[in-house]
Amino acid sequence: MARSKSIVGEARQIERAITLIQLGARLQVLESETDLSYERLLRLYKEVAGKSPSKGQLPFSTDWFMTWQPNIHASLFLNIHEYLNKAAALDEIDTVIKAYQLYTEQMSSQGLEPLLSVTRAWRLVKFVDNGMLTMTACSKCGGHFVSHPHEIARHYVCGLCNPPARAGKGKLAGSLGAQAARSLALSAEMEH
Ligand SMILES: [Zn+2]
Repeated sequence: MARSKSIVGEARQIERAITLIQLGARLQVLESETDLSYERLLRLYKEVAGKSPSKGQLPFSTDWFMTWQPNIHASLFLNIHEYLNKAAALDEIDTVIKAYQLYTEQMSSQGLEPLLSVTRAWRLVKFVDNGMLTMTACSKCGGHFVSHPHEIARHYVCGLCNPPARAGKGKLAGSLGAQAARSLALSAEMEH
């Protein structure tokens, strides 16, 4: 991304930073995705969020994305992201922002809690970019799910088609499963 020193360019970066803060992004995301100084970002964060940013490391592991419910949420987000990536000419970070907004809209329209934070969504895209994670089509339902790159597609069964035994009785989990399945199917349709 060409980074402009113009006032308009800077205004655009501040706007992006504000949107990311409102979505709950960690300060490290803002540092990585804008040219604004740490001091300015810190001030902006306090002004917009009304509190100091939380300290500590970002989650660096891919493990979280492989657990059952998070995997369904992450897959939902990534399907939307892939679709926007192909359909809209947006800067990378704007694609993440837009996809995350659509993901949270979908969650709130189902009355569900978005398990995926914007920081994790951002990391997920990085993991996919550097080949640590990918998407594999489920051999049963055909939906595309976040997986390790070495997954053998022929044998791969997603968490919706093969939920863990403990999930069987969960009403909420069940409704999320069905909704997510529909959304994933929709995303698959959009590709064609
Ligand atoms: Zn499946």
